[in-house]
Amino acid sequence: MIEYRNEPFTDFSQEANRRAFETALNKVKSELGKEYDIIIGGEHIKTDRKVKSINPSNVDEVIGIVSEANTELAEKAMQTALTAFESWKKVSPEARARVLFKAAAILRRKKHEFSAWMVLEAGKSWPEADADTAEAIDFMEFYGREMIRLSERQPLTPLPGEDNNLYYIPLGVGAIIPPWNFPLAITVGMTTAAVVAGNTVVLKPATPTNVIAYKFMEILKEAGLPDGVVNYVPGPGREVGEYFVTHPKTRFISFTGSREVGLRINELAAKTVPGQKWIKRVVAEMGGKDSIVVDSDCDIDLAVDSIVKSAFGFSGQKCSACSRAIIHQDVYDEVLEKVVAKTKELKVGEAQTLGIDLGPVVDDKAYNKILEYIEIGKQEGRLMAGGGKAEGNGYFIQPTVFADVAPDARIAQEEIFGPVVAFIKAKDFDDALAIANNTDYGLTGAVISRNRMHLERAREEFFVGNLYFNRKCTGALVGVHPFGGFNMSGTDSKAGGRDYLLLFTQAKLVSEAL
Ligand code: NAP
Repeated sequence: MIEYRNEPFTDFSQEANRRAFETALNKVKSELGKEYDIIIGGEHIKTDRKVKSINPSNVDEVIGIVSEANTELAEKAMQTALTAFESWKKVSPEARARVLFKAAAILRRKKHEFSAWMVLEAGKSWPEADADTAEAIDFMEFYGREMIRLSERQPLTPLPGEDNNLYYIPLGVGAIIPPWNFPLAITVGMTTAAVVAGNTVVLKPATPTNVIAYKFMEILKEAGLPDGVVNYVPGPGREVGEYFVTHPKTRFISFTGSREVGLRINELAAKTVPGQKWIKRVVAEMGGKDSIVVDSDCDIDLAVDSIVKSAFGFSGQKCSACSRAIIHQDVYDEVLEKVVAKTKELKVGEAQTLGIDLGPVVDDKAYNKILEYIEIGKQEGRLMAGGGKAEGNGYFIQPTVFADVAPDARIAQEEIFGPVVAFIKAKDFDDALAIANNTDYGLTGAVISRNRMHLERAREEFFVGNLYFNRKCTGALVGVHPFGGFNMSGTDSKAGGRDYLLLFTQAKLVSEAL
């Protein structure tokens, strides 16, 4: 097998690539407004309860109309997954992995089309959508190989007179509950990791990006995944999601999303219900309040570039986005001034326009919440750039910079999940590290410094799951930067790493006396 390598990103400075992407966008536009069914055991089911998916760049454009499940259909999906588990668990790990490799190959061929769906349904810019699709391909290539590795004979200490073997076997039926912000990559990663390990799942996609998740179902079908292994069950999280979480036959829950929902799921899953005979396993990857620390001795332009890219890429709607810039007092004014100047140059516009820096935020809920935080920021800091809505028939918000924010201010502590960054002044490097560690979260962070000893201190003391030196704090690559956070950022599952699949298996030891 070819060694795993990351899928390259598309170079949009090449005219041929731009043209190919335009073609894909036009194809997707010609397919807008269709209806999408629930899929349970391969059966397509329409319901009267529909939810519209809309284009956040142009709220009058309907991306698709999706049938939503109720608890009855959720039960049907659960029963179907339970039945499918009995046969899927017996399919060899290599054969399961081959389904992922085939799906990755199909997705690679349809790459721009999938990215185009994300441009239109999630408001991703071309490069952000392209990176999302590349990551989805990476997850399947990586987890396929990982399952093959786990199915090989595992190293155990030899004991004369015994033949000992350790097997990683599947758990059962899992509930997959992804967020909308990496609507393809995270949905694909969470689903295929569980499935390649031999489990079957009920997939409750994030409502704003139901259609992209449906398109992924088409790929799984084309790749030959047996019906019932992945069941597509859109519906309100509070209703359908919770039905799965509390179901006695749910063996594990793989969730990525907000802290509030993650903690609720954790609590509900911990309560044993009649008919349940295991402790449900909860993998919950949640929010972030991520900091970039800028030291006095550093490359200032690198610091500026890292802050702007990490804070405003995909309009700050990444769990890894920088929302706190913690700057040593000696360079504070210079970094702030340069970040403000760069921020003011950023172009906000429709995601489908190549060259925009920020598209819209995902929906009216996010839009109103971010605008409220901007108002709070005006009380808590000095507004330096942005500060409100941007023009357009969508959920556009100006990239916003606040200066002189106290480390314990609300905008320095609470996840905003939008294009807002708070500048915090630090007395020295000790102070900067202390501020960086003073939130409930612990997902990503970065340090921009030339001081080797400071970097070494941060290596030990900056308490986050993904720490980056002299680069931005977003953009983790599968296999290269296994991803997951500490504290209230989640269970540190390290998606895209060698530990991840173990979360969806249980190890069985068989010892035979010879
Ligand atoms: P969210 O509101 O928590 O929703 C996540 C998923 O949970 C959606 O599918 C949602 O369905 C479902 N859900 C909502 N309430 C539920 C309930 N009571 N029971 C079961 N499921 C429920 O989060 P989001 O807005 O989609 O995503 C943004 C959040 O995800 C941010 O906090 C971000 O930091 C975090 N995130 C973390 C990571 C990471 O790796 N740590 C990666 C990406 C995003 P509906 O859509 O139907 O409500």
